[in-house]
Amino acid sequence: MQQINKIVTHLSAKIFEGTYVEKSQCIFVLMALATACFSILLSFTLLVTDHTSGHMDRQGYQELLEISSVSSLYSLILSLIGNYINSHENRWYAQVCLFSYVLLNSVILFYIGVFSIGTGIALAGAPIIGLIIFNRKMIFLSFLSGLLILSVFSISLQLRYFDYAPIVMDNELTYRDPVWLVTMMAFVCAHLALLVLVANASIMRWKRREAEVTYLSTTDSLTQIANRRQLMNQFKMEYLRAARSKQPISIFLVDLDHFKQVNDTYGHQSGDVALKSAADTLKATLREIDMVGRYGGEEFLAILPNTDGKSAIQVADRFRRALQAQQITLPDNNIINITASIGLHTITPENIGGLEHFLAEADKALYQAKHNGRNQVTIALRTQQSA
Ligand code: GH3
Ligand code: MG
Ligand code: MG
Repeated sequence: MQQINKIVTHLSAKIFEGTYVEKSQCIFVLMALATACFSILLSFTLLVTDHTSGHMDRQGYQELLEISSVSSLYSLILSLIGNYINSHENRWYAQVCLFSYVLLNSVILFYIGVFSIGTGIALAGAPIIGLIIFNRKMIFLSFLSGLLILSVFSISLQLRYFDYAPIVMDNELTYRDPVWLVTMMAFVCAHLALLVLVANASIMRWKRREAEVTYLSTTDSLTQIANRRQLMNQFKMEYLRAARSKQPISIFLVDLDHFKQVNDTYGHQSGDVALKSAADTLKATLREIDMVGRYGGEEFLAILPNTDGKSAIQVADRFRRALQAQQITLPDNNIINITASIGLHTITPENIGGLEHFLAEADKALYQAKHNGRNQVTIALRTQQSA
């Protein structure tokens, strides 16, 4: 099972991310396998079917068996030729493969009946798969050629050049013919399976990419916490929620002390390590419902919903003490301690101002913490905790 999973993952990676040559090779390896299985199934059905009833044409089936065996061999050879193509973005090879795909399927459809569910599935499914995997122009060309072939078949049938579904002698009884049924089911199932697999793989990829893009656009690459854009979005939402629900909300702005000195003494790379370490400590100090992000260079903003000033000071000071006590090992094995100054502000239902005002108050408090000697938590004009 694990092995099958590995093969499917490898194949889908090649189908989606490979070069045109690799993609075409994958399709034709699958085609070779499908037609080989079908040939075996057809041979088996021919062996066990009663040929005495008048509505089956044994010769027609044998022709179909020959065509599917030749298709299998042709698909295998075509996929092997891909190994000798020098330029892996060779469109000619891919286009030949696509035309071959159209032609082989049209011939099979001709035998089992062009006006059937098989044609419907192939006409609707193959271009969708093709547009996901290949280039638009190539698929339009192949699709048009497929339509042209089907039109020629249809007109020929109108003009009575051919019998409809020539493997069946009596077309009235087509649906009672077991070989017709097996052929039709094999054709439909192969296309449906490919359609479902490709659709599933592309949706999974699309979702993964979307998650990646969301993560990249909302996360700070150094500290792995929210970036400023994400932080401000969260802040706006929490602020409005607090104002609506008349709940208190606190924020605190953190600015690392004398951080320029860390860079100047130990180098920028060591500064990055210290910065990341401070962000980790801050994240670890907060509750699940709190939010934290990188506000600027060595500044962080924490948002504490449903938290009054008293509790917020405790949280902020817990972080301040944890950071002060933390021994940070730098890449050159030096061990340092850093401290931070913190400006805190709380809004309660009685003192709701604007969002900008809320931030400005925290900034003012931070300035005061710096002014008062750093490594402390300050609320506006009043110093609450000192080192
Ligand atoms: P103060 O206590 O007054 O805040 O002093 P300070 O040195 O921390 O303040 P200042 O604003 O003068 O310097 C901030 C420094 O933070 C300058 C900058 O080199 C550093 N810094 C900002 N972002 C990064 C970063 O991503 N990595 C590193 N290593 N340093 C950074
Ligand atoms: Mg600063
Ligand atoms: Mg600083």
